[in-house]
Amino acid sequence: MAIKTEALLIATRNAHKTEEFQAIFGHRYDVRDLTSRDDLPEVEETGTTFEENSELKATTISKRLPGILVLADDSGLEVDALDGEPGVYSARYSGPNATDASNRQRLLELLTLTNARGKERSARFRCVLTLARDGEVLHQVDGRVGGVIANQEKGDNGFGYDPLFIPDGHCETFAQLTSATKHSMSHRGRAVDALVNAMGL
Ligand code: IMP
Repeated sequence: MAIKTEALLIATRNAHKTEEFQAIFGHRYDVRDLTSRDDLPEVEETGTTFEENSELKATTISKRLPGILVLADDSGLEVDALDGEPGVYSARYSGPNATDASNRQRLLELLTLTNARGKERSARFRCVLTLARDGEVLHQVDGRVGGVIANQEKGDNGFGYDPLFIPDGHCETFAQLTSATKHSMSHRGRAVDALVNAMGL
């Protein structure tokens, strides 16, 4: 078995994300995250695009850890009839105490006000991954999956806006599909594929 000498630090304190990246890069890198690094800052997502926020997290953390490869992500949902909202505000769309349920409710309410129907309810999930070292961006990739926003929530799987998002080519929401089916077509899966390609792995 190859000796994993190089560390890959995922700029997150979300164990679920770390597990996902461990499954993809674990055979090649010593995958770590920020869970035990209280000395490192919580990077504020002050950017107005997924690219800016993803880069901000990767470069800020990598400047503090000389020589270490740092991977950061930023993701969310863009709804065309809402001019791309919630976008970078996906996690906090319904305010500072937002929950996934309150965010979905706000999205449905605002979309109802636009009278958008059927294909007019087009949307996409996006995920931007940035790999950096010493404050310099090595690679940045963008994964997307298009679909429409359902009229009501359906399904119990997944998280976030999954119960409202029907991916193109399907009749079910992400929350009605199995996690394997979701990951095979998801924005995150596509971004990871693009990164693996860009890194030549
Ligand atoms: P973050 O990239 O972890 O900050 O995620 C931003 C927000 O986008 C999440 O809190 C969710 O509301 C939404 N989001 C991102 N990816 C997904 C997904 O795969 N399904 C459902 N919601 C998602």
